[in-house]
Amino acid sequence: MRKAGVLYCNCCGKMISESCGADREEFFHFEKTWGYFSEKDGTSQTADICESCFEQWMSQFRIPPQTVERTEIFEC
Ligand SMILES: [Zn+2]
Repeated sequence: MRKAGVLYCNCCGKMISESCGADREEFFHFEKTWGYFSEKDGTSQTADICESCFEQWMSQFRIPPQTVERTEIFEC
């Protein structure tokens, strides 16, 4: 969640980054627009989750997310 240019973790409220474009910390951002078949039809949700909250959240999954080790760094 960004408030006055400062990025906060939606889960624990910790500050992730102080200024726009200088996001040196890694975090998970998601944005979801719920569709017709959802009870949340017509609403959008976004959140930013810090790395430690993300780890905790993932550990609750019955099937853990796939982890792929990157061996190549792509230039862009
Ligand atoms: Zn957090």
